[in-house]
Amino acid sequence: MSSVDMETMVSLCKRRGFIFQSSEIYGGAGGCWDYGPLGVELKRNVKEAWWKAMVHDRDDVVGLDASILMNPQVWVASVHVQQFSDPLVDCKACKNRFRADNLKETKCPDCGGELTEPRMFNLMFKTFMGPVENDAAVVYLRPETAQGIFVNFQNVMSTSRRKLPLGIAQTGKSFRNEITTGNFIFRSREFEQMEMEYFVKPGTDDHWFQHWLEQRFNWYVKLGIKKDNLRLRPHAKEELAHYAKGCYDVEYLFPMGWSELEGIANRGSYDLEQHSKFSGKDLSVFEEETKERFVPYVIEPSAGVDRSVLAFLLDSYHEETVEKEKRVVLRLHPALAPIKVAVLPLSRNEKLVPLATEVHASIRGCFMTQYDDSQSIGRRYRRQDEVGTPCCVTVDFQSIEDKQVTIRDRDSLHQIRIPIETLRATLLAKLAGENFDVLPPGGSLVTGGKS
Ligand code: ATP
Repeated sequence: MSSVDMETMVSLCKRRGFIFQSSEIYGGAGGCWDYGPLGVELKRNVKEAWWKAMVHDRDDVVGLDASILMNPQVWVASVHVQQFSDPLVDCKACKNRFRADNLKETKCPDCGGELTEPRMFNLMFKTFMGPVENDAAVVYLRPETAQGIFVNFQNVMSTSRRKLPLGIAQTGKSFRNEITTGNFIFRSREFEQMEMEYFVKPGTDDHWFQHWLEQRFNWYVKLGIKKDNLRLRPHAKEELAHYAKGCYDVEYLFPMGWSELEGIANRGSYDLEQHSKFSGKDLSVFEEETKERFVPYVIEPSAGVDRSVLAFLLDSYHEETVEKEKRVVLRLHPALAPIKVAVLPLSRNEKLVPLATEVHASIRGCFMTQYDDSQSIGRRYRRQDEVGTPCCVTVDFQSIEDKQVTIRDRDSLHQIRIPIETLRATLLAKLAGENFDVLPPGGSLVTGGKS
C-alpha cells in the first residue's frame, strides 16, 4: 500500500495548490474538485503521457475529440437511458439517501431510521438543448467518452484511410450523478476519462485483448507505480455485461483498499451493432484481401484521469529523515512532475539576481520551470521536494566568477557543479533518465552534507 493516508494527501494537495474543493468559498459543490496551478500541470502530464503511449508512439491508433452533448438516441442505443442506474433507498427520518447495494444493515446507518424500498436512480445528468425546456429537448451530459468514438467509427475509418486493427483514442470530461461520492478525487460527479476503442477482426480479439492488458498494466509501472501496488483483476461471470467476452480491472492498492483505476474489456461487436440498429447505418467493414464483410469487435481500455493522478500522487509520497529533519518528497516520474526544474539564487543579493535571471531565461521554454528566491535555500529545497521537482539549480556567488551552477537531484540528494553553457543539455539528459552522477565536460561532483 502507499505509505501515506488519504487525509495527509488531501491536505498536501490543498496546501501546495494541487487540488481544491470546487466552489470552496460557497461551502463546496458535492463531489466536484478543482485542480490548482500544480494539479493542472500534473493532470496535463498524465493525459499527455497517455496520449503519447496510445497515439503518438503507435501506427495503429488515431485521436478524436467528440462533443460532450450528443444526440439523445446515442444513449438509448448504448442502453444508458434504460440501464445506467443504481438502486437507491431513502431514510424516512433524516432523508439521507444511500445505495442499497452498499448497505449491510436494514436501517439507516446515520440515524437508525426506517428505509424506503429501493428504486432505480439514473446516473446521467439531464439538461435541455435549445430555448424550450420540454421532453423533446432533453439531452444528457455524457457519462463516458466511449460513445463519441463508436458514433464516429465510420467517419474516422473512411477519412484516415486505415485498415483494421485500428484504435481511436479520446480524453475528456464525463459526468455521473454518483449517489455516494468520496475518497477525494477517486469518485466524483465530474471527472475525466482516457478511453480507447481498438477495432479488430473477429477471431483476432483474444490476441489483442492480451496485448492491451499487458500494455496498460505496464504503462502505470513505467510511470513509476510500484508493481506490488498494482494488480489485474479478472471480472467474475456475474460482473460481466451479457455481451462482454472478458473484462479485467487494473486496480491500485489505495488507502481504502484495492480499487479500480481502469477497466479493460473485450466488448465483441455489441456497440457497433447497437448503433447500426438504432441509426440505420451499416457499420460493417469490407476486407479487400479476403473479400469478407464483418462488424469489428472492440477491445476497450478505459481509464480515469483523476484516479490515475491520485494513484501517482499516493505512490510517489515518501517521508524520510535528512540531517535530523523530516523531508517529505514526491518521487514523481520526471514526465509527470508539475515543475521539472527550479532555479534558486542563493539569496536576493543584487549581484546574484542578473545571473540567476539569465540562467532561468536560458532554460525556460524548454521545460516547466519555477524561479524561487524567497526564504532560506534549505526551505526552498524542501518546498520543491514536496511537490516533486526533480532538479533544483542553485546560482551562488562563485557562479559569477566561474560561470558554473549546482544541480541538486531530488531523489539521491547528490549535487553536481557544471558550466552554465552545458546546463540545458545536462538537464534534458537527467530528465530523460540519465544517471545523475554522469558529468558533462567541465563538471564535478559536489561532496559534503546532504540538503
Ligand atoms: P466504478 O465501479 O468504480 O464506479 P466503473 O466500472 O463504473 O467504476 P467505468 O464505467 O468502467 O467505471 O469507467 C472507466 C473509468 O472511469 C474507471 O476505471 C475510473 O477510472 C473512471 N471513473 C468512472 N467513474 C468515475 C467517477 N465517478 N469518478 C472518477 N473516475 C471515475
